[in-house]
Amino acid sequence: SIVNVLICGGAGYIGTHMLKMLALRGYETTVFDNLSTGHRAAVRWGRFVEGNILDREALDRLFVSQHIDVVMHFCALSQVGESVRDPYTYYQNNVTGTVTLLEAMRAADVNKLVFSSTAAVYGVPVNEGLLSESHPTNPINPYGASKLMVERVLEDASRAYGLRSVILRYFNAAGADSEGDIGESHLPETHLIPNVLRVAQGIGEPLKVFGNDYVTRDGTCIRDYVHVTDLAQAHFQAMRFLESNEGTHCFNLGSGKGHTVMEVIAAAREITGQPIEFVRAPRRAGDPPALVADIRRAIEVLDWRPEFEDVRSIIETAWRWHRAPHY
Ligand code: UDP
Repeated sequence: SIVNVLICGGAGYIGTHMLKMLALRGYETTVFDNLSTGHRAAVRWGRFVEGNILDREALDRLFVSQHIDVVMHFCALSQVGESVRDPYTYYQNNVTGTVTLLEAMRAADVNKLVFSSTAAVYGVPVNEGLLSESHPTNPINPYGASKLMVERVLEDASRAYGLRSVILRYFNAAGADSEGDIGESHLPETHLIPNVLRVAQGIGEPLKVFGNDYVTRDGTCIRDYVHVTDLAQAHFQAMRFLESNEGTHCFNLGSGKGHTVMEVIAAAREITGQPIEFVRAPRRAGDPPALVADIRRAIEVLDWRPEFEDVRSIIETAWRWHRAPHY
């Protein structure tokens, strides 16, 4: 059974929440992270190894020094706009880096992987309604394309080498640890909820709302916000699933509910008691009008269910963190 978990990218936003969950449940954890966007101070549990997934020798040293049962792979560059401006860096890091990690795993006889993918693999949905895993994939930016390429690599690796993998396609990760230990901290911050809360604190530039002429109930984009601890719980179930299942398996992870940008702002106003003023800005390149997950497969197959069902409860945990961040 699984004892030792390697968390690549375990110093980042989602990886850190995974780390805390595994550590508190008694697993032996090793975080491998180059700290390009992660935080050393967030790795408060288990072993930490600083390194880059493009560095095969560093990975080989790690696998020799430490027995690993399963790898959770959160390392990636993940900004859509940056990926459009600098695609080589995205393909190098996200695709070549992952293939390097997979080669090192194979050499070390580690055959289980939980991989962080994204709703960006779907591109612009072809019809309205919830997106299931069988919706056609057609990424519209290099970030989404890099994730989809890795998904294909994992399918091929399963056939060729017997790699077992679970691909988790996240919708919009949000919120923070309910005890306030860890949270979201990006520089620059591009995501909606942390930017709304920054403005609630009176910090920095005014909030921009990108686009007001989408064909949605109020003209702003609809997204599916899923709590980061619910994401971590899904990884946990995926890891257990790999103990008894071969092949490659793909699941959407969201809350199954959509909220417009204006609805998020309204909820944050209630929670913070602050006015949260905003300015209208043009549409942001590459933003589809609506992305909401059909999560039935994860519920049925992984026996997972999001506990933070209401976007308010997600914003509340984020607000607690933003008022008292530790890093
Ligand atoms: N958004 C916005 N202002 C911001 C950040 C985001 O209006 O400062 C909008 C963005 O256009 C999108 C939604 O909020 O419609 C969610 O964006 P985010 O960057 O959080 O996640 P994404 O959906 O791009 O992964």
